[in-house]
Amino acid sequence: MTTIYEVEHLHQPDGWLSPGYVDVGADGVILSVSGQRPQGKPVERLRGFGVPGLSNLHSHAFQRALAGRTEFVTAARAEDNLWTWRKEMYRMVDRLTPDTYEAVAAQVYLEMLRFGMTAVCEFHYVHHLAGGGRNPNPAEMSDRLIAAASRTGLGLTLLPVLYAHGGIGKPVEETQKRFVHPVDDYLRLIDTLRSRRAANRNLRVGLALHSLRAVTPDEAHAALAGMKAMDPQARLHIHVSETTHEVAEVEAGLGARPVQWLIDNVDLNDQWCLVHATHLDASEIAGAAASGAVVGICPLTEATMGDGFFPLVEYHGAGGAWGIGTDSHYSTSTAEELRILECGKRLELRRRNVIARPEGGAEVHSGRLLFDTALAGGERASGQGGGAIVAGRRADLVMLDPDATPLLGHGPETVLDGWILGGTENPVRDVMVAGRWVIRDGRHPQEAAIRDGYRAAAATLFG
Ligand SMILES: [Zn+2]
Repeated sequence: MTTIYEVEHLHQPDGWLSPGYVDVGADGVILSVSGQRPQGKPVERLRGFGVPGLSNLHSHAFQRALAGRTEFVTAARAEDNLWTWRKEMYRMVDRLTPDTYEAVAAQVYLEMLRFGMTAVCEFHYVHHLAGGGRNPNPAEMSDRLIAAASRTGLGLTLLPVLYAHGGIGKPVEETQKRFVHPVDDYLRLIDTLRSRRAANRNLRVGLALHSLRAVTPDEAHAALAGMKAMDPQARLHIHVSETTHEVAEVEAGLGARPVQWLIDNVDLNDQWCLVHATHLDASEIAGAAASGAVVGICPLTEATMGDGFFPLVEYHGAGGAWGIGTDSHYSTSTAEELRILECGKRLELRRRNVIARPEGGAEVHSGRLLFDTALAGGERASGQGGGAIVAGRRADLVMLDPDATPLLGHGPETVLDGWILGGTENPVRDVMVAGRWVIRDGRHPQEAAIRDGYRAAAATLFG
């Protein structure tokens, strides 16, 4: 049994179909896309603009509950930055339980769906009990994330994080004991999680190295070899070059800047996602762009931390792939994240349309370019199998409401400029993941229960 949708305006990799007909198989995969109405078959009409679902390429779900709770200074913390923020974050980590971990994740995953994201790459490092004791089920915390994703319907690329040191040559701190695995235990966890895919077809499992500060070269190579033996195509993520402090520490400890070290020492390719990569020199920009790795820019999180600003124009100009992550979840809005990226650069460079370049006589639209680039980068980093509404891809479809204020009067040519750059009202009306509607008319069937669970978790964590 298949379902055929007639979408008033359907996003395609090279333009739009108006209308477009999408035939979705019972397995949630797109069978065909056409501009011609199939003869003799019923169709379901969808009004508005149908675009692919975006993969959010970096998330620490639990940090959703911390957003808005660290926006102050005191005499003891007059200089505030990523490292002082991390102290507050660790205070929360000390209180996290499997129940609160799942409740916060369900809330933030629902918020992602609401803004048109259909998958997330979860960079998951809170594995054990407070103090480092093992859960009876070593995969307990991972299983809670899988449960949150299943409950909301969001696709999940779960990236258990290998974490071993508190800095180069430094032991872990007390709070960090929750994060730590020997490499063998870590690979066993990945193996266990891969077995969970039988019950969840939207689950992918990849590898994450926390950073070059937290994992030695030997540990990194051992983990990568173990992952390759299980899945040669696995997605590989790492935090890298988020702050100048990190760049200096890695340069002193490993003899090269972090991204340069990766270029020189691992087979950097299109399986990799370099999360942040904020501080790059010219050689790193050229090497990372040529490798096919995706840079995971987390615009609003990096802004709130005062990390610095990714060299977007240079990297995009070098043909580098990039996507967006909502990381600490100061926002889960696709439009807001892309807007701060584009408009922040406009402020810095004092010009408009900073990455769009003319192609022949055609208009090149920034909203469309930002969305399409983040879409392709998100798919590459998540390996979810969506990212485009074409035959053979997973049927992830996001319907934008033409009656939402930012889209009023827009046609296909400018609708993504309207969404991404033209207003704050959220136009996402319906969201399909793998052929199944998870949000219709802005409603998710479990939203009240998920919100109640989040309210209770927040009260426990900060009460
Ligand atoms: Zn992160």
